[in-house]
Amino acid sequence: MTKMNRLARFITNVLGPFLNKVSRIFRLNDGLTVFLFHEVTDDPSEFLKSTGMWVSTRTFQLQVDWILRNFTVIPIIDLTSKQELPRNSAIITFDDSWAGMIQAIEKYLLPREVPVCLFLNFGTIDRRIDLVAAERFLEAQKLETKFGVEDLLDGIDKLPDTKYREFLKFQGPIADIESIRKIALNSNVEISNHSFHHNDAIKLTIEEFLSDFQKNELCIRNLKASGSGNFFAFPFGTPGLNFDERHLKMLYDKGVQYCFSGTSHRIKTFQFSQRLIPRIHFSPIDCSSGNMWWACYKNQILKR
Ligand SMILES: [Zn+2]
Repeated sequence: MTKMNRLARFITNVLGPFLNKVSRIFRLNDGLTVFLFHEVTDDPSEFLKSTGMWVSTRTFQLQVDWILRNFTVIPIIDLTSKQELPRNSAIITFDDSWAGMIQAIEKYLLPREVPVCLFLNFGTIDRRIDLVAAERFLEAQKLETKFGVEDLLDGIDKLPDTKYREFLKFQGPIADIESIRKIALNSNVEISNHSFHHNDAIKLTIEEFLSDFQKNELCIRNLKASGSGNFFAFPFGTPGLNFDERHLKMLYDKGVQYCFSGTSHRIKTFQFSQRLIPRIHFSPIDCSSGNMWWACYKNQILKR
């Protein structure tokens, strides 16, 4: 057995059940926990496998069941009401614009009336190209040396048919606008902003960032007028590395009420004045309750 397998087994069999008990005794699960999902698929693309931004449908169901058993899932819009949140509040969010995640929400969450927030990139939906996948593919083919947004989109558009099909297979299927339109009609679905082209904010000028944000905001407003403009999730999501105070200030000035990072933390005591909210991301192997407890609490326990 490898070291990693031994560690996974230890977490699943020993640490997880222990944390489960401790959390009940010490009410560790107070506060606000925001969960972050990406693609849900039983056939992940090479690109998704390399990023870990997917879970299988079976794992997704286990993770959702675990969340529903241990937390009170609230609609994200409740953050704006400024009324006290229920004990053990959780919010379920999805980032990017993958086809499988839309199907999974329709199949497993909406029939149970679970509220969700989708942070979408309408540039990605429109062009069917995920910029990070495009960059990786073109780099591997040594076909493109400049990696601005338009260079990447052009680079993919100019691929010969066989290479383009190879790229689509490498990337994985992106949701089409019709399925987004349909799901947006559901009152349990909030559509929010994740930038138009999934840009790394820090690599843009502040003006470029603003225009990218507004372009995506316009698409959201065309889709669903209610509730838009309140939330923004930063692509890549690491404070200081992918965005900084300038971006936060600009978004708050434009009326955004809460921003979301990818920092893997829970909020022990939520205050409405905390406007940058971390999120917990489950990996494809988080399919036992032990692993899920560990994913939620490890950073707090390890004081990271
Ligand atoms: Zn993203």
